Amino acid sequence: MADCDIGLVGLGTMGAALALNIAEKGFDIAVWNRTGTVTDAFHADAGDLAANVTPTHSLEGLVAALKRPRAIILMVPAGDAVDQQIAALRPLLDEDDLIIDAGNANFRDTNRRMAAPGAFLGIGVSGGEEGARHGPSIMGGGSRAHWDRVAPILTAIAADYQATPCATLLGPEGAGHFVKAVHNGIEYADMQMIAEIYGLMRDGLGRSAGDIGAVFTRWNAGPLASYLVQISGQVAATIDPATRGPLLDVIVDAAGQKGTGRWTAIEAQHLGAPIPVIEAAVAARNMSARRADRQTAEALFGAGPTPIDPAALPDDLLEAALICGKVLCYSQGFGMLASAAREFGWDLALPEVAKVWRAGCIIRSAMLDDMAEALTEAPGRDLMFAPFFADLLARTHGPLRALVATAARHGIAVPALGAGLAYFDTMRTARGTANMIQGQRDFFGLHGFARRDDGSTGQHGPWG
Ligand code: NDP
Repeated sequence: MADCDIGLVGLGTMGAALALNIAEKGFDIAVWNRTGTVTDAFHADAGDLAANVTPTHSLEGLVAALKRPRAIILMVPAGDAVDQQIAALRPLLDEDDLIIDAGNANFRDTNRRMAAPGAFLGIGVSGGEEGARHGPSIMGGGSRAHWDRVAPILTAIAADYQATPCATLLGPEGAGHFVKAVHNGIEYADMQMIAEIYGLMRDGLGRSAGDIGAVFTRWNAGPLASYLVQISGQVAATIDPATRGPLLDVIVDAAGQKGTGRWTAIEAQHLGAPIPVIEAAVAARNMSARRADRQTAEALFGAGPTPIDPAALPDDLLEAALICGKVLCYSQGFGMLASAAREFGWDLALPEVAKVWRAGCIIRSAMLDDMAEALTEAPGRDLMFAPFFADLLARTHGPLRALVATAARHGIAVPALGAGLAYFDTMRTARGTANMIQGQRDFFGLHGFARRDDGSTGQHGPWG
């Protein structure tokens, strides 16, 4: 019987959790998975929620189970799998039936799919399995009319921040997936900066994982309160049942990635938007994978880290430096979103982006509420110029400088925090050094330069 409110394709980690969340909120959902046994197992394990779940074993069966106009969520890997499912579904659907890609699509693919016939929404979903099950952050992209049709379901399943659902239509086309990619880029940077502080404490200060975990846990009660600082405390404190030592100490130091951080870095280059902290975090993941080369280099050049006097890096200095790096990273991320809005003609409300990230997603933090407020006060103003954050930067760039300088002196790499400091120093240098670059460009390529004294442009030097 065609009485389900929504359909879902792809009962993997995220799809299964999302389907249970939808069922729990009282909606009837029809589900289909490429491997049919997964569908049956999902239904069998759904407990009380099974009453709201209709398992189907063909796409025809899925479509037949849905109320009109139909809406179907795709939760399959980004790329070909999404195109394959759209191609298989479209012939079975009416023109105004809605396909919603909830995976981590590249926003350029979403633009293409939205331009094709048939109603389509691209939504970024963050929060991992736990978020998908109990309340993710949902970043919508597409038309208002399409969003409104499924908004009651999406807002019901999303995380709440003080009774405001973290599910918003942020812009047209692939805007939702674009914002999700930038979210993930910021996530890479937040994680990398925390890892760099961990590295300083471990390799420079000789502190144990348990001790470091306790520091993160303490910081989670202050300005750095956030999901990532919280779980970093938990990760560092966890004991490995096999060795009875810290689990962190036995985890291989090579980080995985699925590509969204890389997309963010690539799109930033297309836009000419500077996001050096995120780029450093992406590069650091790539370098983490080069374990064999790092081992060769250590044998060749000797290990970098030398002991640091604990008085040089007290906990409150490390905390302040991390706050500074975080503000600079978010300033860059929101700056990139502003560039994208201009470039693509999107009405991308940055305060709404900050609000939708306040709960449910991986980068949720207390600071995002202050960011939402600062961006609302003066839309279009760089976050680092908002009085609240300018004051924070004024108080914390000294600690960040001390940290980066100490790390450099002691051979400990802090690429993301260092990139943050360089960004800060570059931004506050009203007279930079690109006059040398312009001189070089004119010397070898007659590219011309502008003069400071009389404002004339297209000038050339008598380079000889
Ligand atoms: P999983 O690998 O757990 O599940 C993938 C699902 O897609 C399975 O149901 C699989 O079916 C199905 N599938 C794979 N290929 C095809 C295909 N060609 N045609 C039809 N179905 C296919 O992935 P996740 O649930 O982790 O991720 C799904 C999406 O959500 C991805 O885009 C991911 O980037 C995104 N995402 C993931 C997050 C996470 O924390 N895991 C967080 C936020 C977004 P079968 O059982 O037959 O293999």
